[in-house]
Amino acid sequence: MRVLVLSDIHANLDALEAVLADGGLYEAVWCLGDLVGYGPDPNGCADRMRELPDLVCLAGNHDKAALGQIDLEAFNPEARHALEWTRDSLSEENAAWLRSLPERLVEGDFTLVHGSPRRPLWEYLLDSERARNAFAFYETPFCLVGHSHVALAFRLDGRSGRCSLHLPPQSPLIQLGPERIILNPGSAGQPRDQDPRASYALLDTDRLTWEWRRVSYDVRAVQIRMREQGMPARLILRLAEGW
Ligand code: ZN
Repeated sequence: MRVLVLSDIHANLDALEAVLADGGLYEAVWCLGDLVGYGPDPNGCADRMRELPDLVCLAGNHDKAALGQIDLEAFNPEARHALEWTRDSLSEENAAWLRSLPERLVEGDFTLVHGSPRRPLWEYLLDSERARNAFAFYETPFCLVGHSHVALAFRLDGRSGRCSLHLPPQSPLIQLGPERIILNPGSAGQPRDQDPRASYALLDTDRLTWEWRRVSYDVRAVQIRMREQGMPARLILRLAEGW
């Protein structure tokens, strides 16, 4: 099965549309959470995702916060501002749908979480040491995470117990197995790896291949809508620079 894997859309409809179009033919879409927060299109993104035929979607920390299930004090002032606006903007139908999303799922050989298998909503996996500890908290060969907005992978060497970091520029296509691997598709709607293009991945669950992809979209159009909604300047600026 060919699966389009994406995460951290953050209410950026132009980025979401670009990813869905760029992915070509795929049989399923797996979304690792943070559909809303930061961006100007929470309902547009939720509507678009809900109409996908074979969607698996997790809740992230921003989704939970927009629903009032996490205290907004846990976020910085700019994120909080965007979350308050999101909370007031979400339709009842979309809020109910977001509320129904799980924090953790297993799909065949893949465990799906937003942050990490140890702390699904909050932990950032950005370094090998932290990632090495995370392998003990899930059972399947592979784990898919988002949350950090950085496309990367961690491989665990079963014999030495060593964990190594793999970044897409080394090779955007990797063969999965036999080692256990934690994979992050990067962020569709707010990348933080100095590349403003939307980030996602294509997973082939039969051939066990994972390919990171980037696609350009109209960042300025999104920035204009953010400005119209009175979003903080820093959130608007960072979209164009990828941080
Ligand atoms: Zn996020």
